[in-house]
Amino acid sequence: MLKHEIFGIPVNALTYQDAVDWVTESVATGRRSWILAINPEKIMKALSDEKLRRLLLQADLFIPDGIGVLWAGKVLGKRFPQRVTGVDFLSLLVKEAATRGWKIFLLGAPPGVSQEVAHDWELKYPSLQVAGHHHGYYKAEEEAQVVAKIRAAAPDLLFVAMGSPRQEQFIVNNRFVLGVPVCMGVGGSFDVLSGRKKRAPVWMQKTGLEWSYRIFLEPSRILRMSALPKFVILVLRRKLGMLKQEGDR
Ligand code: UDP
Repeated sequence: MLKHEIFGIPVNALTYQDAVDWVTESVATGRRSWILAINPEKIMKALSDEKLRRLLLQADLFIPDGIGVLWAGKVLGKRFPQRVTGVDFLSLLVKEAATRGWKIFLLGAPPGVSQEVAHDWELKYPSLQVAGHHHGYYKAEEEAQVVAKIRAAAPDLLFVAMGSPRQEQFIVNNRFVLGVPVCMGVGGSFDVLSGRKKRAPVWMQKTGLEWSYRIFLEPSRILRMSALPKFVILVLRRKLGMLKQEGDR
């Protein structure tokens, strides 16, 4: 599968359908697969944290989640056929799970939230098999129990909603013990799907302004989001460097 690199982080150039096909193959073959959603914030963090970068590089499928990644691709001449957001891909996978008989497990978010999301999905898709759920606020010493619970439930897909980099750390530490074919970190998706956090209006999602809506709802995110302008500057500098090289030739 075509993979670009943006400042040292791979990002697959794929459509939702390609990603679904990839998951289908993983479930069918039992190939251990970790799906990681890439946005400018993660790229910037990885640039200043080599340990984190090495952790992220262990993923198997890198989906272009942030609009900034698509924009960077356009500026730097790396074509992405489509933006594949974590939350939309999650919803699509659940729909596929219901029709293909894949069992799912939800881990993360405050107590009660993953249960509520699972219940809503079961109502929406009566054939969906929810193998289990667990909140994301357990103590470090309880992790082995949580892992054992997931293992015993034997899901095909595990969605981990514990924020970054905690969810990535959980997946890397446990993916082979868990025995689950497909693991995916889904950040705050359960909060959004349970209606606890609002998603930006569709016109903002389409025009790439979703990030500004998140700052509006959660002003405390402004510090985290400051990675965005830095990312923009970095991309533009790289582009200028490319243009200069072309001019020198
Ligand atoms: N969370 C969790 N355990 C923790 C810390 C966070 O389950 O120890 C949950 C939190 O309740 C929220 C999600 O992880 O549902 C993180 O959401 P956020 O929007 O911050 O995700 P990100 O922006 O990192 O993708």
